[in-house]
Amino acid sequence: MAWNVLILGGGFGGLYAARKLERALPRHAAKVTIVSDVNFMLYTPLLPGASAGTLEPRHVVVPLREHLARTDLLLGHVTGADPGKREVSVTTADGEQRTLHYDQLIVSLGSISRTLAIPGLREHAVGFKTLSDAIALRNRIVHSMELAEATEDETARRALLSYVFVGAGYAGLEGLAELQDFAADIVDLYPRSRVQGLRFILVETRDRVMPEISADLAEFATAELRRRGVEVRTSTTVERISADSVELSDGELVPCRTVAWTAGVRPAPVIEQLGLPLDPAGRIVVDRFCQVEGHRDVWAIGDAAAVPDPARPGQSTPPTCQHALRQGRTVGGNVAAALGAGSPKPFTYKTLGVFVDMGHQKAVAETLGIKWRGFPAWFLARSYHMLMMPGIKRQLRLIVDWTVDLVFGRDTSELGQLGHPPLLEMPTAGGTDAKATVPR
Ligand SMILES: Cc1cc2nc3c(=O)[nH]c(=O)nc-3n(C[C@H](O)[C@H](O)[C@H](O)COP(=O)(O)OP(=O)(O)OC[C@H]3O[C@@H](n4cnc5c(N)ncnc54)[C@H](O)[C@@H]3O)c2cc1C
Repeated sequence: MAWNVLILGGGFGGLYAARKLERALPRHAAKVTIVSDVNFMLYTPLLPGASAGTLEPRHVVVPLREHLARTDLLLGHVTGADPGKREVSVTTADGEQRTLHYDQLIVSLGSISRTLAIPGLREHAVGFKTLSDAIALRNRIVHSMELAEATEDETARRALLSYVFVGAGYAGLEGLAELQDFAADIVDLYPRSRVQGLRFILVETRDRVMPEISADLAEFATAELRRRGVEVRTSTTVERISADSVELSDGELVPCRTVAWTAGVRPAPVIEQLGLPLDPAGRIVVDRFCQVEGHRDVWAIGDAAAVPDPARPGQSTPPTCQHALRQGRTVGGNVAAALGAGSPKPFTYKTLGVFVDMGHQKAVAETLGIKWRGFPAWFLARSYHMLMMPGIKRQLRLIVDWTVDLVFGRDTSELGQLGHPPLLEMPTAGGTDAKATVPR
């Protein structure tokens, strides 16, 4: 009888594990199933581009069914597991409770935004982790300019045109850079907003931005942001958020109605329900083969796993897609080996490079010890992501989008109503989706 291999999560780790298994296992040797709550993998490094309207949102996702030939996809939400019985509980997309059995289990459920106990954070901040977060943030910027144009109250206009990003890692820095670039592009269409001016603030607890890159490249990125008028506040924390202001640790009360929260991630909450050993950060404890401690038939990878980092002995790999996808390949090979095809291999990848795309044809990059900045880094970053995007069709779509953006600039319409049709007979063109709407 064919083996049952279950992969939880269809992101970077899950997709690449399935692809490796398809190649490594003989046909019909195993039934491989991905359980995921969406039917695509989100290519997160391109999320800021989608948010700023440079890329069509559909072009930054990889439909799982198109890229997997022999893997089943079950759309649903993983709710728990019993490793003793080799069972996983799932609520399917249409609400049915199912129990799935496995011979080998791969967990790659990723992470969610990490929040802190800051008053007002949950109520007023927007994340920057999912496609809907990214599009909502863009729509919110357009919507805030529309409101700023309509109001006679200058204080209200100032709050509408101020945007605070909290956390200067990949997501915060790239997201802010692209969205500031987008806002600067479209503000000319809003005369009152142009006169008032936009205010973008990047708040970071540590004393520098982007700990993932070397200090001089981080300084270059900071200088580039400051050149564009962005206020970079390092060694600063957010104390309180309300509907129309943000209080910073240096005592400043910033009038502001849009706060983007990008201050780190933590493992997906369901990880705690899987009955697996966790480290103090809540990640699943695995060995260098990505096998879960004490469970010979369970493997864990990506943001939700504490995989020993070959580049930094004693530490775990950072939560990046370049690690997750390679861990996916490693674990795909190791599960195939556990089922009799090949021999197991440890995870040995050491980061080859880091790219931080700042939009505006600027980036910083570090590849094989060589540092790049400005246009060459930007070109390198785009070429790298184009090549890493699975499938020639999607690669070509990226090239077309980038070319159209270079020639015609960005689109300025606010389409928050997409996917949220009005009720029949409602006298509206569609309304605005709630997350995109700037709160009153
Ligand atoms: C804005 C942004 C920019 C980034 N830029 C970079 C970059 O430039 N370079 C880089 O290396 N890394 C980058 N990252 C980090 C990178 O995206 C992650 O490290 C990577 O996605 C982790 O892969 P994963 O497989 O662990 O999780 P994911 O890719 O997040 O996949 C997890 C999957 O599991 C699904 N899922 C979660 N919970 C459940 C559940 N209960 N039931 C069913 N399905 C579930 C999710 O929907 C998702 O599809 C960025 C992240 C963000 C947010």
